[in-house]
Amino acid sequence: MTRISFLTLLWFSFVSAPLWGENWKVYVASYKHDKACAITYTFDDGLIEHYTLVVPELEKRGFRGTFFINGSKVTDGKQIKDKTKPRVSWAQLKEMAANGHEISNHGWAHRNVTKHSLEEIKADVLKNDSAIYANVGVIPRTYAYPGNRKGGEAMTFIIQNRVGTRMEQRSLGSKRTPQDLERWVRTLLKEGDWGVTMTHGITYGYDAFVHPEILWEHWDKVKKLENKIWVGTFREVAAYLKEKEAVQLEIAQSGNELCIRPQLPLDKKLFTEPLTLVIEGCGIKKMVVRQDRKKIPVVLLADKAYFDFNPHGGEIRVKIR
Ligand SMILES: [Zn+2]
Repeated sequence: MTRISFLTLLWFSFVSAPLWGENWKVYVASYKHDKACAITYTFDDGLIEHYTLVVPELEKRGFRGTFFINGSKVTDGKQIKDKTKPRVSWAQLKEMAANGHEISNHGWAHRNVTKHSLEEIKADVLKNDSAIYANVGVIPRTYAYPGNRKGGEAMTFIIQNRVGTRMEQRSLGSKRTPQDLERWVRTLLKEGDWGVTMTHGITYGYDAFVHPEILWEHWDKVKKLENKIWVGTFREVAAYLKEKEAVQLEIAQSGNELCIRPQLPLDKKLFTEPLTLVIEGCGIKKMVVRQDRKKIPVVLLADKAYFDFNPHGGEIRVKIR
């Protein structure tokens, strides 16, 4: 049957709670690809080691990071502004962004938002947005508060046109031991949480590691748990979680076909993260999914299947065998 007869439709509507159809349970996964938890690694202040050491180590494992930078400290690549704490250049940041890392806003001049006037903070934040856009080619859609100082009217302004700002973070630097990190990962898995780390120095600078190998070895362990942990940029995970909360799916079932219509009342320009839809049910042997008539890849497991869809897109048709 290629067309669903509208006379025989069973209509359901739900936000994000699981829904049992005639045979199947349908829901948006807590995290991308139905993973149990998520981790975002953020790096502050644009130290050059983020480019020379962190990026290669992340990429070796297929991970991407979020780099919160201060435009006033970024170099042109020729002159070194601060010899004791050398910084990245715009060309290096552009290369990082092209390779999938998030380059985002940490204030132009690292101003404490609670200590300056709203007008000063607005100017500082917009200047950094513009500099990143002009030099890196991406509009920052997230923000990390300098010194993690939060408060005042500035916060209402800063969140506009962004998917999120960093509100909580776990320091990942001089004080961390391998045991600590293992415990933290176990807790994230158990609680199904999103962990956001904050790192400054690697071998120099604020809160630098005693041995950077602690970080690389931690990433090896996370890599081994890749089927359970989503390592995503701040923008990706923040957007996913808000989209998951806001999306509404209208589902109709006819025989072994589902017709799903997503509706997402969020800004299309900001919230661009695909969502993962899970269909649980016994004995699914084959599943063919199309959204807006285009075939979507499906991952089929013993007791469920999942696929990514565009929450701003049109009708999704699922044929189950
Ligand atoms: Zn900072």
